[in-house]
Amino acid sequence: MSRRAVAVRIEGIVQGVGFRPFVYGLATRLGLAGLVGNDERGVFIEVEGGSAPVEEFLAALTGDPPPLAVIERITTGPAPVTGRRTFAIAPSAAGGDRHALVSPDVATCDACLRDLTDPADRRCGYAFTNCTGCGPRFTIVRDVPYDRANTTMAGFRMCADCAGEYHDPGDRRFHAQPVCCPACGPSLRFHGPGGSGAAGDPLEPAVRLLREGGVLAVKGLGGYHLAALAADEPAVAALRSRKHREDKPFAVMAGDVAAARRLCVVDRAEERLLTGPARPVVLLRRLPDASVAPSVAPSVAPGNRWLGVLLPYTPLHHLLLRALGQPIVLTSGNVSDEPIAYRDEDALERLGGIADAFLTHDRPIHIRTDDSVVRVFRGRDLPIRRSRGYVPHPLPLARAARRPVLACGAELKHTFCLVKDDRAFVSHHIGDLENYETLRSFTEGVDHFRRLFDITPEVVAHDLHPDYLSTKWALDQDADLVGVQHHHAHIASCLADNGVAGPVAGVAFDGLGYGSDGTLWGGEFLVADLAGFERAGHLAPVPMPGGATAIRQPWRMAAAYLDLAYDGDVPEDLDVVRRNAGQWAAVVALARRGVNAPLTSSMGRLFDAVAAVAGVRDAITYEGQAAVEFEQLADPAVDDAYPCGLVSAGTRFAVPGVELVRAVADDLRAGVPRDVVAARFHNAVARVVADGCTLVRKACGLSTVALSGGVFQNLLLLGRAVTLLEERGFTVLTHHRVPPNDGGVSLGQAAVAAAMAANSPIRGVRRELSQARHTWFGGMSETGT
Ligand SMILES: [Zn+2]
Ligand SMILES: [Zn+2]
Repeated sequence: MSRRAVAVRIEGIVQGVGFRPFVYGLATRLGLAGLVGNDERGVFIEVEGGSAPVEEFLAALTGDPPPLAVIERITTGPAPVTGRRTFAIAPSAAGGDRHALVSPDVATCDACLRDLTDPADRRCGYAFTNCTGCGPRFTIVRDVPYDRANTTMAGFRMCADCAGEYHDPGDRRFHAQPVCCPACGPSLRFHGPGGSGAAGDPLEPAVRLLREGGVLAVKGLGGYHLAALAADEPAVAALRSRKHREDKPFAVMAGDVAAARRLCVVDRAEERLLTGPARPVVLLRRLPDASVAPSVAPSVAPGNRWLGVLLPYTPLHHLLLRALGQPIVLTSGNVSDEPIAYRDEDALERLGGIADAFLTHDRPIHIRTDDSVVRVFRGRDLPIRRSRGYVPHPLPLARAARRPVLACGAELKHTFCLVKDDRAFVSHHIGDLENYETLRSFTEGVDHFRRLFDITPEVVAHDLHPDYLSTKWALDQDADLVGVQHHHAHIASCLADNGVAGPVAGVAFDGLGYGSDGTLWGGEFLVADLAGFERAGHLAPVPMPGGATAIRQPWRMAAAYLDLAYDGDVPEDLDVVRRNAGQWAAVVALARRGVNAPLTSSMGRLFDAVAAVAGVRDAITYEGQAAVEFEQLADPAVDDAYPCGLVSAGTRFAVPGVELVRAVADDLRAGVPRDVVAARFHNAVARVVADGCTLVRKACGLSTVALSGGVFQNLLLLGRAVTLLEERGFTVLTHHRVPPNDGGVSLGQAAVAAAMAANSPIRGVRRELSQARHTWFGGMSETGT
């Protein structure tokens, strides 16, 4: 009988996910000999035996791997037949698997959930139950290689039972680094008003406190949360006021999918996300009567048609939700915009004024990681925040970097990104990089990622905005610097997200970004690939009266736009004018003089202006609030749109936003309902997107479009724009792995820096574009703006 030996190498996320026990079990079942081990590149296997079982073995490796494994590459080759008779797990060489990939944190698996509820199991009711298939990972890793001594579980000595499981290749907990049980692992603690409850199950006073309307701080995987009963209006209102969070919606944790369905519509894609191993907050459409039903208090998500829902992802969550039998608000443990608290003493101090009690434990969190937030768009993920459950899983780049890159990101919703070869490690959500605390999170995060993934950046990419802390920090680094224009980074991010290199017609709509010409951009049509871009068109610039104040007070944008729209003669019967009569003239004067009124082509600011004109709100308490509420106002049944012809502006085309503002104001004065007005505006912007891309296609022949920037979190706009573009024969790229907002910018910067050295097709397109410049409109005379 012929004997055959094969060497196999598997790369990807294959360590800490039960791969070796899986291989061991498979080989022994098939009667094969050999060995399996971990090294710095992943998993290596030598297997020998009869030809048929070896074939079967190879097929099963890729066909039925452990659920958490992500196989990026598998290579096989012949190996010498040794005649050995047994299969073994090879010990890891010292330092051998130092830089194998660390997995993201994983929601409690079904098997552990059964342990948790089985009265006969020694882990019944134990809040730290985990196995190779689930549990904490990224948030507890201090250093590499990934083994217990380098995690925050180092201080817990395994008991004999746990050690037995840990060393048994046939056990589900074989080499599960955080394995533990009530006899040897972390324990819960309750700190209440009357001090620390000594006796009894700490869960009991915590549940009682919530039932009685209290606010509870709960230590989670990546930080502390604040919890209150979702149905309890006074409790939720108290949480809101103590946290200084005025309007921004809270997320709700429901016990299971059935409980989520009592609050919201959950389709199959949404169910898959809700119940998947990453367990993000999923933005779901609320049931029409959910706001009046007793399950969700009005203060949870005031006036919002959407609700952020997540399911339990740690055993502690499962225990809490089971004991309560009803949904809870679960929001980051912080005061307004500060980073989430994750160290125990810091949490006690910072959350002491918000929480009535603490449910905490003694397993340290090494790295602060917020919950991820995802929407579903046409059956696919549209990330809003990519953090816990996804980070640090690397994203593949279409073009490998010749030298290691660090991309420093932007400012709001900050992330950074490290690249080695063709792998991009986008960081967890750092927060708004506006103060020392978040800056320190950023720099510590960079150091941590450098260590974990053994990357020493030689190229540092940054935004062009001179005032961003990320830019200032980058300019201090001893490396080759690459400044990447903000909207180019957005488009590159969308390209990298889709694994393509371009060139494309890129539409980048967002709040603000520093333009190559020093003005504030944000309504941009770019011809772009990874290595470069040309600005083909943009929203016609308008002044932002008062600068940053105009961001917090959308009515100022309304004043600037209306003054232009009506040529200085704004109808006084407009509600927005009446409401702001006291300051109107002064703000208009500011806009006209251009003092402290920088010009911007931002689409976000146009949305702000129109939202204020439509009476949505004059001032905001969180980024994008007016636009978010304006989207919800729109009646999706309305199909018609305001006309908005693109015009020639110098060497580019421009979108006359003033025409849209005038159309909105005229409709409102004529008594057209606001939901119709909002819909017509959205439809008009979608048409502008399609018209702009059609012009670019005529000029350069590009028929692929990339949509990016925070404005495309607006599902109504995104849906209509994609439909129109597809009707006109475009291939449309949208975001699926990183957010379209500034949280995705670091990936774009990294992709640009990685591609800079390579020859780029953009040069050819650039030539065509420059020839097209004067013929955007077939020789029509230039009107300028
Ligand atoms: Zn498990
Ligand atoms: Zn134990």
